[in-house]
Amino acid sequence: MSRITSSFSSRLLDWHQTHGRHNLPWQLPRSPYRVWVSEIMLQQTQVATVIPYFERFMQRFGDVATLAQASLDEVLQHWAGLGYYARGRNLHRAAIEMHTHHRSQIPSNFEDLIRLPGIGRSTAGAILAQAFDQRFAILDGNVRRVLARHAAEEGWPGKPLVQTRLWAQAEARLPNARYADYTQSLMDLGSLLCTARAPRCNECPVAEDCIARQQGLTAQLPTPKPRKARPLRHSWALIVQDDAGHVLVEKRPPAGIWGALWSLPLSIRDETPQSLAQRYVGDEQHLAYWPPVRHAFTHFELELGICICKLTADSNAQSARESADSQWLDLHKPELWPGMPAPLRKLLERARQASNQAATPSNLNTGKSTCPEPSNASSSAKKPKASSDRPIPAISANESLKMSRKKPGRAGSSIKRA
Ligand code: SF4
Repeated sequence: MSRITSSFSSRLLDWHQTHGRHNLPWQLPRSPYRVWVSEIMLQQTQVATVIPYFERFMQRFGDVATLAQASLDEVLQHWAGLGYYARGRNLHRAAIEMHTHHRSQIPSNFEDLIRLPGIGRSTAGAILAQAFDQRFAILDGNVRRVLARHAAEEGWPGKPLVQTRLWAQAEARLPNARYADYTQSLMDLGSLLCTARAPRCNECPVAEDCIARQQGLTAQLPTPKPRKARPLRHSWALIVQDDAGHVLVEKRPPAGIWGALWSLPLSIRDETPQSLAQRYVGDEQHLAYWPPVRHAFTHFELELGICICKLTADSNAQSARESADSQWLDLHKPELWPGMPAPLRKLLERARQASNQAATPSNLNTGKSTCPEPSNASSSAKKPKASSDRPIPAISANESLKMSRKKPGRAGSSIKRA
């Protein structure tokens, strides 16, 4: 091996000068608020995906006070589609805490930052380094990969012992100045060259002393997470649609998956489509079915069966489940739809197309008007996008408020309690 003439950090900083990213929206300008929001959005999500969300978010919520004073509903509406909705809820809670206890400023010390919802050690380090140029290390997914390879640290990085070793590596490599630039350069190395597949070691500024490269271990490091089969759960989503193209949605409980987002009515535990429809619409209804959709969460996979209950003017439905947390959406005005999980939004898009074609949903399904059997966990459905939120807490019976069904006045108008 040739003699290494400069430190890890100085080689990285030199490389970054010409090859790093300097025009990311949160760098122009780089304020503590913009750094914080971008760091939360970038957890589990790639830069290219985050950029349009970040820009829209900044246009509406330009500072801590504006974000703190906005409703959670509106914040989640701007978050919808990014996934991992707990991040959006935590961002809002943290803004309220900063507004109340820190004069609407992002704290510039580790102890106060780490107490805020949604901020762990690495995110706090990233904010302090990038927004305040303080000497703090980070250990996000990209950096873990770079360090696991460069130092040939074996073991799955999610294990506490491996984490401890990687943190030690991260701190040992810190420079004595230019912490913001160094942090960005490390992130850029992980995202541009030291990629998960096919790292471009020939262009890497720290290749000279990279142990994984020397030992041909780049494909094995970092050690992958031990595989565990994700259980498959089944649930039913109900599309209650009236003859004018309005669909009933309700707000999810604040905790749990899709927390505080708007959702189609979902079944409770072993509830059948008929009893779900009965709970929301009253009398026994004719149901049509669409093929199920799948969505992966961190700890399980959800198969959602889709049943459609089309209400007509002479429908004998006397009541629908309504509450302060329900509303009728106008399918023809998607711009007014509130924040909802991407898979459910897609279903509404499909219902909208069906409605545009002046066809009943049952005409557009795959011919199934009988209730389809749920598939089993071993079926080879297309792998869905993962989300980190926790399992759905079942909607308990006492959350179900039966009320007389009124025709919606306008799109998105809330249904009042009868
Ligand atoms: S040499 Fe290759 S494996 Fe090592 S840090 Fe650079 S890009 Fe990553």
